[in-house]
Amino acid sequence: MSYKNKVIDLTHTLNPEIPTWDGSCGFTIDTLVDHHECQGPYTFKAQKFTLLASAGTHIDSPAHVFTHGATTDQIHVDNLIALAVMIDARSKVTSSYVVSEQDIIEWEYIHGTIPDQAIVCICTGWDVRWSDKDLYRNNHQFPSISAQAAQLLSTRNIKGIIVDTLSPDRPDNGYPVHHIFLEKSIFIVENATNLHYIPPCQSQVVVAPLLIEGATESPVRLLALVPE
Ligand SMILES: [Zn+2]
Repeated sequence: MSYKNKVIDLTHTLNPEIPTWDGSCGFTIDTLVDHHECQGPYTFKAQKFTLLASAGTHIDSPAHVFTHGATTDQIHVDNLIALAVMIDARSKVTSSYVVSEQDIIEWEYIHGTIPDQAIVCICTGWDVRWSDKDLYRNNHQFPSISAQAAQLLSTRNIKGIIVDTLSPDRPDNGYPVHHIFLEKSIFIVENATNLHYIPPCQSQVVVAPLLIEGATESPVRLLALVPE
């Protein structure tokens, strides 16, 4: 039996205008040497990047919240590829929407219990605001996840959770969702895009962080493999 996958890019492109948590510049790119500055028949352009660990589409490891938690380089590669579960909350979403326990229960009523070892993608559609950093950041008013929903998801033995906003928590809720997931070594990916292209189940998702020793967060290339 042969089958083909369509590859969907769930990653935002990094540039100096990307939205960031505190509104500061998250990424710069400088030219160290350009083609016209080189001698000889073969020329080069070399660059230097400066970026926040949380620039763009990125992963939070347990060490982001817990002093002795695992860092991004300590997350086993087996945990970075998994069945994708996509929970589509777009029809209900407002800037103050909180994904509830009921949203998870409704998904499971239709599709069955979230499988062991899945990576759960919460699609709110907030990614359409990405190109306008103020609209995306929106003074930290964006769709989030309730502590109860996070508790329920954390009982499903999942590998990770992916959101298409700056965070599954808002500053006004005290960050319970980060604690609930990272305490159980369930990683969090923030600022994903294109989650609506993933069907509710049956796809795979690949989370590829930079391999940086001691990093608590890291930009990722995030891909979905969707059966055609
Ligand atoms: Zn985070």
